[in-house]
Amino acid sequence: MTPLDGAQWLIRHGFPVFPADHPATRRCTGIGRGHDSATCDKRGKHPTVAFTRAHTLDERKVHETFSRGLRNPAVAVGACSGPGGTQLLVIDSDRPGAIEDVAGAGGESWPATMRVWTAKGHHDYLWAPLHLRLGNGLGALEGKFDGDVRAGNAYVIGPGSLHASGVVYELDDPERPPVHAPAWLLDALVTRPNFAAHRTRWQRAARGDAQPRGARGLVAFVLDSPQGARNNRLFWAACRAAETVRDGGADIRDDLLSAAIRAGLSEREATTTIHSAYSRTGATA
Ligand SMILES: [Zn+2]
Repeated sequence: MTPLDGAQWLIRHGFPVFPADHPATRRCTGIGRGHDSATCDKRGKHPTVAFTRAHTLDERKVHETFSRGLRNPAVAVGACSGPGGTQLLVIDSDRPGAIEDVAGAGGESWPATMRVWTAKGHHDYLWAPLHLRLGNGLGALEGKFDGDVRAGNAYVIGPGSLHASGVVYELDDPERPPVHAPAWLLDALVTRPNFAAHRTRWQRAARGDAQPRGARGLVAFVLDSPQGARNNRLFWAACRAAETVRDGGADIRDDLLSAAIRAGLSEREATTTIHSAYSRTGATA
């Protein structure tokens, strides 16, 4: 796969691209504050344009930019939009299987999703609900995952790119699209490290068998939300509630809605968040 092949594959699948440095040029063509092309020793990775604006889905432009093979195609992560207005989330494993290990340690399995092999590991592409404030933070995966998270105002080097080591970034299976990010991963990413301890205590308390105890725990979790964490907490609680409904339990959606409103969210915002959690979990909203 050449840089042009990679860039064309990306735009045909709806991923806006932009040019990044290619190791075959004499000097790094990257730009940006503090970047020195003459001394740059991280070749093949740096954007050559202001990528948050200068990305494209245009076939002709892509041909012009990449046909000489002297630019690596990169994906403007924040500009990608998936089914139902979802946002792109890329899990960058620094070694093969790093994210599978994290999943396995939590008793989960890692879904088959779009994957690009990199020089050290792989990039896994996933869709995540738009209202979640995802970025490059690892959340609760901090210290547990050998890799990085890319979402929001971020980019990743795409398939067909040449790494300085000589490795070409390759699609694992060009026919496999991104799937929805698993709930446990989103939960981990939206957990702020400073309330991780609180959440663990709450989870222990809510790990009862009887539904009412779990339901009270979820409602209390939403009610206790500090400003700034309200929406993420509501989404998390609504996912758990939706799972209960899916498994035949009682629906506490209305209790969560009132708790969220009492915690300070607007009714519209809270309704949207709950709806989004229920749809993603597969429960009827
Ligand atoms: Zn550079």
